[in-house]
Amino acid sequence: MATPQQLQLHAPLSGVLVPLDLVPDPVFSSRVIGDGLCIDPTSTTLCAPLAGVVSNVQASGHAVSITDEKGVQVLMHIGLDTVNLAGNGFTRLVEEGQQVDVGQALIEFDADFVALNARSLLTLMLVVSGEPFTWLAPETGLVDSGQPLLSLNLVEQTSDTPLTEAEEALFSKPVTLANLNGLHARPAAVFAQAAKAFSASIYLHKKQETANAKSLVAIMALQTAHGDVMQVSAAGPDAEAAIKTLAELLLTGCGEVVAGPVQVEVNAVEASSLTVLRGVCASPGSAFGQVVQIAEQNLEVNELGSTPQVERDHLSRALAEALVALQQMRDNAKSDAQADIFKAHQELLEDPGLLEVAHVLIDEGKSAGFAWRSATESAATLFKSLGNALLAERAADLADVSQRVLKQILGVRDQVMELPEGAILIAEQLTPSQTAGLDTRKVLGFATVGGGATSHVAILARAFGLPAICGLSVQVLALVNGTQVLLDADKGELQLDPDLQAIEQLQAKRQLQQQRRQHELAHATLAACTRDGHHFEVTANIASLVEAEQAVALGGEGVGLLRSEFLYLDRNHAPSHDEQASTYNAIAQVLGPTRNLVVRTLDVGGDKPLAYVPMDSETNPFLGMRGIRLCLERPQLLRDQFKAILGSVGLARLHIMLPMVTQLAELRLARQLLEEEALVLGLTELPRLGIMIEVPAAALMADLFAPEVDFFSIGTNDLTQYTLAMDRDHPRLASQADSFHPAVLRLIASTVKAAHAHGKWVGVCGAMASETLAVPLLLGLGVDELSVSVPLIPSIKAAVRELDLMDCQAIAQQVLGLESAGQVREALRLYHEATVDTSLVLEN
Ligand code: PEP
Ligand code: MG
Repeated sequence: MATPQQLQLHAPLSGVLVPLDLVPDPVFSSRVIGDGLCIDPTSTTLCAPLAGVVSNVQASGHAVSITDEKGVQVLMHIGLDTVNLAGNGFTRLVEEGQQVDVGQALIEFDADFVALNARSLLTLMLVVSGEPFTWLAPETGLVDSGQPLLSLNLVEQTSDTPLTEAEEALFSKPVTLANLNGLHARPAAVFAQAAKAFSASIYLHKKQETANAKSLVAIMALQTAHGDVMQVSAAGPDAEAAIKTLAELLLTGCGEVVAGPVQVEVNAVEASSLTVLRGVCASPGSAFGQVVQIAEQNLEVNELGSTPQVERDHLSRALAEALVALQQMRDNAKSDAQADIFKAHQELLEDPGLLEVAHVLIDEGKSAGFAWRSATESAATLFKSLGNALLAERAADLADVSQRVLKQILGVRDQVMELPEGAILIAEQLTPSQTAGLDTRKVLGFATVGGGATSHVAILARAFGLPAICGLSVQVLALVNGTQVLLDADKGELQLDPDLQAIEQLQAKRQLQQQRRQHELAHATLAACTRDGHHFEVTANIASLVEAEQAVALGGEGVGLLRSEFLYLDRNHAPSHDEQASTYNAIAQVLGPTRNLVVRTLDVGGDKPLAYVPMDSETNPFLGMRGIRLCLERPQLLRDQFKAILGSVGLARLHIMLPMVTQLAELRLARQLLEEEALVLGLTELPRLGIMIEVPAAALMADLFAPEVDFFSIGTNDLTQYTLAMDRDHPRLASQADSFHPAVLRLIASTVKAAHAHGKWVGVCGAMASETLAVPLLLGLGVDELSVSVPLIPSIKAAVRELDLMDCQAIAQQVLGLESAGQVREALRLYHEATVDTSLVLEN
């Protein structure tokens, strides 16, 4: 019987116990999610190991968490990488919030299907709330479902105090999740771990839902999906740093590869036959080359030194020399990120805590080398023991600095290794210094046992554009030098026996993409004119001054959408008039008097909460007080914004655009407020005033709106969700909520017709305009301007230059009569293949 301070966890399945250390997935074997056990199942119903409430069951049915009344949280995760199965093979038997008894069936799964289609069936049961446990049965061998396995020692839980009104919460900018499967167990664990490094109370927000960012289960319970817009908020002494780090982590995929589409792989055979070693992506890309093993020099130091004064002098000379060497590396750094790493290393050299420990040891008679190594090793051990992935990675920096100073003390020169061409470096762990010193003419990439996606080594690899994976099993260290391998960092794989055809295809594809990108960049400043001489304006969607600068540098012909709600997201209080005005001024000045600047007034609500505009929670925020509706309800907010925008008249070709307009009365009232504010300022000439066409009502009544506006800009993101009645963030509708749906295209066509009948121009600023495939279609439908995401400006301009307007009109008419978005995409793909000769782009 368990005592009141203990809790028994029962086997959730029958099967064979597998040591957690052997689970071929570092996120589990490293225990970053929590300690527990792994079962290779022989039964197919996952049962509750404890009584409690189902605190989360993933929509895809592969993972479930139970929280008991004392706060113990246990996560069960069926199989590895099973999130990719998108629910196939799993049947959920319980709902979130449901109370369950020990042994109650939670999820049924089709073992044959999962085994064939996922990486592995290995099932994890992890104590994510962190209580220590003892085993009630042998740690290996067979177990029966329901058998008592672990005894948890319950400890007092301290919970984060939720944010109160009194605490100044800071908010990050919204971040769109690029993780293909949202924040499932692996990225959620990385995020929660990182959040725990801060003392601030931190929350993760998805629309109206909020989760404690330090709780893995709470994050998973948000059921996030690819494309979800998230915000991080924090209150407390290190809130600002927390927001910065965590927003960046979200943006970069929380340890998952997020650059480009991720392919769902069916790899059970490969995984077991050891032709593939798996880790996690530290830097994307791929390379084919030969193994070069790198081992760190083992430095011998004498424990005892001469007099303390001599040893102190030794140490301070070595520290000074290391400081100079790092300064040189800083000066030669190829990026700010790289320079920052060496700056951090310099700070470690001057850390008073480390020096104090070293000096005490020297005073006890130890040598400078011994004292310095002991001081840095004990600090690194402390970092590693805190159970925090980020701090553990900082231990690698400390080891690097330690080694650098030791070499100075011992007078050891770095061994210069003659590298062969096409080297793929393999190491237990590369230090940031080693990485920074890599000869990128010879090194094509690297793979390590240690390290992490957020480590400095990973940052450096990304700065160099070198593909890299980390977290591989130690088997990688046994590979013989010269072995040919294919490093596919995007998939987190090192292929040991690569198929030559696959290598060639991968290389050819990447080369073509790179050449195309270079060609597009080289021609970015050329106008976007079709072959038959029609000019189309390609402008940028921006949310900051920096993006305005980038847009101009990349050949943007103006700004077609400034999402003004993103300018001051991290504020609790509205920015002052002067602050707003100076932001608009700065952006307008970057563009200059010949380029358009379309400032959209605040589009708050829906999926975009704004900290300084508190709103009641709504059952259906996308159909609620959003955009112009909210601003007209709080006219002072709109007046203030108009006044600030009007301060930029004359600096750029200024346009003001109203979001979410549905009624003519909204447009008229907003115009009246604008005119009143202009009058107060004594302005005789008003900026152009236009509206977003993103509600079907506005599209259908475009003929009535057109005489009263100067321009339209079609927001295909919202127009699609409102036309198809599909939430733009809905994970399971993501593939259907497609702007290429003929219904959306018909609305675009009729809007353009109505606008042109009144001599008004029409832009498209929804994400559709940033898709190369959509370019002939939108031009053919008569759209005048494409406002696109900044990095894509050169590609979209290049796409326009490859087209003939007459052909575009023909294909546009043709697809308007099709039945589905799928058919439209297919027709456009065939048209693209038939008309655009990919070899041509490289010639002119
Ligand atoms: C749109 O809806 O297409 C649009 C551009 O606006 P947002 O994405 O900011 O809602
Ligand atoms: Mg919109």
